[in-house]
Amino acid sequence: MTGSTVLRACGLTRQYGRDSGLVRAVDEVDLDVPAGQTLAIMGPSGCGKSTLLHLLGGLQRPTGGQVWLAEHQIDTMSERALARLRRDHVGFVFQSFHLMDELTAVENVELAALLAGQSPGRARKQAMYLLDRVGLADRAAHLPSALSGGQRQRVAIARALSNEPLVVLADEPTGNLDSAATLEVLRLFEELRVAGQTLVVVTHDARIAAVADRVIAMRDGAFADDTQLASAATTGTVYNGRR
Ligand code: ADP
Repeated sequence: MTGSTVLRACGLTRQYGRDSGLVRAVDEVDLDVPAGQTLAIMGPSGCGKSTLLHLLGGLQRPTGGQVWLAEHQIDTMSERALARLRRDHVGFVFQSFHLMDELTAVENVELAALLAGQSPGRARKQAMYLLDRVGLADRAAHLPSALSGGQRQRVAIARALSNEPLVVLADEPTGNLDSAATLEVLRLFEELRVAGQTLVVVTHDARIAAVADRVIAMRDGAFADDTQLASAATTGTVYNGRR
């Protein structure tokens, strides 16, 4: 693997069920995601997008093939080592935000750093920096219930960035949002792309493609199309053209 490849999959496969009820949710997928790339994975419901994202992030184990995160082959890794790798190098964003209801915005963002042993002062300072980055510094003391859907997802994105991840993996991040809130999140993804953050977004929403360097269309667990978009070249994203 080259130094600039953040994610790599070879023959990646995930089957569910047995015998007659067998589903190949992800079917022998090969994929390289270079550092700095914003990749959108699209396709109809049930084509395997979420399963693929979970395999890439080590949230699920493949039934075949291999997957690497940076230099680490994660499909054979122990559960404990995998949990540490996810904590240190991956930021997850989910459709339903997964924020802790009883914690304020800043407490949600700093929680992972505190659990990883960072001092309260440093964790708070970094969480405030991240909330500022997503445009929510003035909402730091609000509970999630006092925030709009778009604001909650931006808090979740700030939280995903708190470990300075090698890659952010987002699963239908705008799926629960109205149009205005979707635009807030898209704007933020565009900023992350320009900043060189590697980002893989699974989505139904064609507007995500507008902020991606590359769009993969999935069908029946496999890649039907893999398109490099011009936006990468025009904004100097660090994609190096290697596949
Ligand atoms: P998408 O994210 O594109 O909607 P999924 O990855 O959720 O697709 O699902 C792909 C296929 O795998 C679907 O046919 C789905 O029904 C099946 N599937 C997903 N999760 C499970 C599971 N835990 N058990 C059995 N089948 C599953």
